[in-house]
Amino acid sequence: MTVSRPLLDGLLTALTENDTSGVLEWCESYVQFPHSDRSKRFRREMAPWLNEILESATDSDTREMVVMAPVGAGKTTMFEALACWIVGREHGASMFVLQSDTDASDWAETRLTRVLEECEPLAPYWPKSRHQKRKSAILFAHMPLFVNGANLNNLQSKSLRWCIGDEVWLWKAGLVEEFRRRTHDRWNSKRIFVGQAGEAGDQFSLAFEATTRKEFMFCCPACGLRQPWKWEAMKYKVSLTTSGETDWNALANSVHMECACGEVFEDKPEVRRALSSAGEYVTTAGGMNGRTGFHFPAMAVWWIPWATLVEEWVKATGEEKRGNLVPLRQFKQKRLAQPWEEIGTGAKDDEVLNTRGDYRQGLCPIANPWFLTLCGDPGQNQTYWSVAAHSREGEIYIFDYGECLAPEDLLEIAGRSWPCVEGADVSIQAGLVDSGDFTERIYDVCARGAGVLYPSKGSGGTFGTWAQTELKERPGMLLYTYIDRAAKVSLYIERIAMQKPPLLRFPIDSTEDFLRGHMGQRLVPSKTGKIKEWRKVAGDHYGDCSKLHLVAHWILAKNLA
Ligand SMILES: [Zn+2]
Repeated sequence: MTVSRPLLDGLLTALTENDTSGVLEWCESYVQFPHSDRSKRFRREMAPWLNEILESATDSDTREMVVMAPVGAGKTTMFEALACWIVGREHGASMFVLQSDTDASDWAETRLTRVLEECEPLAPYWPKSRHQKRKSAILFAHMPLFVNGANLNNLQSKSLRWCIGDEVWLWKAGLVEEFRRRTHDRWNSKRIFVGQAGEAGDQFSLAFEATTRKEFMFCCPACGLRQPWKWEAMKYKVSLTTSGETDWNALANSVHMECACGEVFEDKPEVRRALSSAGEYVTTAGGMNGRTGFHFPAMAVWWIPWATLVEEWVKATGEEKRGNLVPLRQFKQKRLAQPWEEIGTGAKDDEVLNTRGDYRQGLCPIANPWFLTLCGDPGQNQTYWSVAAHSREGEIYIFDYGECLAPEDLLEIAGRSWPCVEGADVSIQAGLVDSGDFTERIYDVCARGAGVLYPSKGSGGTFGTWAQTELKERPGMLLYTYIDRAAKVSLYIERIAMQKPPLLRFPIDSTEDFLRGHMGQRLVPSKTGKIKEWRKVAGDHYGDCSKLHLVAHWILAKNLA
């Protein structure tokens, strides 16, 4: 049997037109990027993490896509390829929504229009009259293509088949829902929300969480495990130059990625590219029908050196310790494409309660403690104190506390001994007393408790943790200063709110005033709004004692090491 040529052609045409898996082939044949330095043509090897996203954009099942992706991953290129495909193959009223009208017209003028003009299959569709090609819309013969900023005026009263939104994390509340309304009356419509991550609970995050989520994963050639690019797998060593600064070159040279099996991946373009090229999306969580989410971090983007990311990370965590959370937040949102969650702002009441252990007040709960510390916070009418047992691993068990009338009474307490859960009675090795108030009197107390009690003072500084100085006016007496903010971050955020190891524990029968002495602590924006600082809390003396135990541990761990 022979098939006539026109019939065959017709069949082929019909087949091609129904073929939705061909987006990558089509783009490779027709899409060019005259403005691009990286590649003048669309090539699927270039950004492998975008291929399945493009395929999903052109399949018939997916109605809504949410792409949470790092900056610099080629997503604008993806928009441009998609625009060509929509005009050339899909048809239907379409809208790209960028952050603002200015962003939209800039992109349309400098990039999008040029890419569309270079795309040969679109040639027959261009509007004849010049005024139908405007900044905010191109009225093709068969469909309008709008390019707008994210505001309600641009969205209202348009029925669209394709809605593609960029930097959705910045959109005003309600716009995502408006976007959905613009497409809901069309059975074959498609919404695509793209951007770096915003904040947990914002409309972009919620849209992502409603999808069947897919994570781009690499495969370890040594053990065969397919796994996400995790930040914890990035390994590096921070070392200092002779002048005590971070040695950034040494840091960059130490960066590599490690699989759990021990396989090491060097930070080289060819290594990173090989991992990306063999990358695949793996479903990690289910969601609503017809909604698909895609996520990958910057480590998967082979043209971004891991060393660049590690350097940013080290700087961001350094800033965090100094009270500036902005770089860390941006790193998580822009590089890891993870929504920022406002943890790390303080300790909630239930978190303070959860710090209670399973031992009673007055009994040392661990056998053979590494050392015992007594810390005191003198107030106007009484002095607060507490006693803690420390383990070698850094665990701190506060097991006795109370109020005494005068700072001098601390000397008596320093001489006490306590029963231990196992073995002989235990006694105090060292202690810190807050000398911020009643300074001379505290110095006198410490002089009499020489070798056990030391004065200490919180500093408003932002760098480092603690320092030891000899008092000029009291030769031989050491004063310990510590960064108050860092000590509080460690106590209230890491140990109490996040329950990060090593453990910090209070007695199970802790009284209300002891527990309340740790409550209400939170970081609030400073007057300038640039950093967050610990707000002042009245009656937090027991909390200050706990903080001093932590500082004492830092000092003793260094001195006993
Ligand atoms: Zn492995």
